[in-house]
Amino acid sequence: MFKKRTRRELPGTVLIMKLRPALFLDRDGTLMEEVNHCHDPAEVRAYTGTKEELARARSLGWSAIIITNQSGIGRGFFTLEQFHSVQDELIRQLGGFIDASYMSPDLPNSGSLRRKPAAGMILEAAADHMIDLERSFMIGDRNFDIECGRNAGVRTILVETGYGREHLDCGSDFIAPTVAQAIRIAIGN
Ligand SMILES: [Mg+2]
Repeated sequence: MFKKRTRRELPGTVLIMKLRPALFLDRDGTLMEEVNHCHDPAEVRAYTGTKEELARARSLGWSAIIITNQSGIGRGFFTLEQFHSVQDELIRQLGGFIDASYMSPDLPNSGSLRRKPAAGMILEAAADHMIDLERSFMIGDRNFDIECGRNAGVRTILVETGYGREHLDCGSDFIAPTVAQAIRIAIGN
């Protein structure tokens, strides 16, 4: 008599990992006040109310991932260490509710596949963190943030902070006054 095989014993079982939705977040002018080529942690001011919304999003199963162009590094305006010290201070002010950061030091018109508006950093993050792009959002204050989101196939929200008011006609799916409100739109409450 053959014993009936249980599902567990089937050969070649594929482990199915559950994909999570993500908030892909621009940094300057979106999560923190715009400072031209910010490289000093003393100049970091995260927008109020952001930390609380990130905490809520994470408790609902969302990942929060920073996607930032930093051509100031490529131009030699500041170092990678200075970038990291700014990043550490921002993440501290955001209560640590950030899962990962992706940064492009590439110059404009360099043909970079990572620098926004190219989708490279989002696609990299999605692969690294098992992200479901269909349920994800890109949130930013400039047209190239919105284009980047569109190129990656995620929904987009323009915030009115930073340079946002200059980019209201960029064709984003939504417009929100602040990143806190953008996160509320994305997570649906
Ligand atoms: Mg920005």
